Amino acid sequence: MTNPLAPAENIRTSVPRLESIYFYLTGGCNLRCRHCWIEPPHQSSKRQYPDLDLGLFRQILKQARPLGLSSVKLTGGEPLMHPRIGDLLGILRDEKIRFNVETNGVLCTPGLARDLVRSGIFHISVSLDGADAGTHEWVRGVEGCFDAAIAGIRNLVAAGIRPQVIMSLMRRNVGQIEALVRLAESLGASSVKFNIVQPTARGVKMHQAGETLAIEELVSLGDRVEHLLSSSTMLPLNYSHPAAFRSLGKLYGQDGSGCIVCGIHGIIGILADGSYALCGIGETVRELIFGHSAQDALADVWVNHPVLREIRGGLPNRLEGICGECVMKGICLGSCVAQNYYRSGSLWAGHWYCEEARAKNLFPATRLKSPVKGAEPAAAGRLDNPQKAHSSGQ
Ligand code: SF4
Ligand code: SF4
Repeated sequence: MTNPLAPAENIRTSVPRLESIYFYLTGGCNLRCRHCWIEPPHQSSKRQYPDLDLGLFRQILKQARPLGLSSVKLTGGEPLMHPRIGDLLGILRDEKIRFNVETNGVLCTPGLARDLVRSGIFHISVSLDGADAGTHEWVRGVEGCFDAAIAGIRNLVAAGIRPQVIMSLMRRNVGQIEALVRLAESLGASSVKFNIVQPTARGVKMHQAGETLAIEELVSLGDRVEHLLSSSTMLPLNYSHPAAFRSLGKLYGQDGSGCIVCGIHGIIGILADGSYALCGIGETVRELIFGHSAQDALADVWVNHPVLREIRGGLPNRLEGICGECVMKGICLGSCVAQNYYRSGSLWAGHWYCEEARAKNLFPATRLKSPVKGAEPAAAGRLDNPQKAHSSGQ
């Protein structure tokens, strides 16, 4: 890699702005979610795992400013478990950097909730995978985490920020969708997002065990959520299926449910050990790690890393399979290049959800450029020396 100190103006004309950094602050997690795509080890008082070094956090933010940084995301593992979370928030406050947080809510005390609000948070999401403790804790693997998450949400609302509630959908909790929306309403949440369990990391086992929903169920559920359930609540509902299945209003978040246009061209991930990565996928796919913040300048990695350059040059035009034929690919970018790579070993592979929908004749014909053709095998887009190419076994 060359020219790590290229002037910011030159950087902006040759590569996209680095709009956002996703900080995966903790190597471990206090929960054991059966669908987790990051797959962190469970951390307890007896077993500790690395947390992002405070000095590296400060240094990365400083280096990111001239590249165009406008906001950061704190995620995990569990970000609120970072032993210096108060200091991290202080740095964001001093630097006046807007941030959002993804949390399981368990550690969100009244004091921490107030600190988050004081520090410039603009969005926070809290996971609730059931409307009762039995269901939520079956998914999340730790007794008592339901009441703790509910308390965390209440603390956030009391501090002045209404969190989004996120429910990951699976066979075990699909009957609680409506109850979950009512619970979110009663807690004062700002919106509800329904995530689909991806066949990535622990999600692979769930797909293989039949614990996830079949594509026919997912497509029809999306329709039910976006039309029937949405009309029964004031809360914006966001069902996170790919762009081809959304109305234009849902694509651009005109109804308040949140825009899903992919931001991959303006994001880099930082793992808990200080590594640069495409995103949290670097925890399980080592070839999507781009160096280390203690040794490599962020500008050098952002401008010159071959995988980032490959993605910039190839997305969306080199997408293959159903994504190559889809009229939405310019904004959807294949939904998630990290997950597509995890499954196939190719950056350009079609997304599993849309591939499965097409196989069942459920893919919307109006979102195809031309009549359906057989997908070519995704030979291009493989990275040098991939250590593993994953398959969901489906
Ligand atoms: S889904 Fe989130 S809370 Fe659950 S194990 Fe993974 S990182 Fe932890
Ligand atoms: S086919 Fe690909 S580009 Fe089109 S909506 Fe699905 S994931 Fe997105």
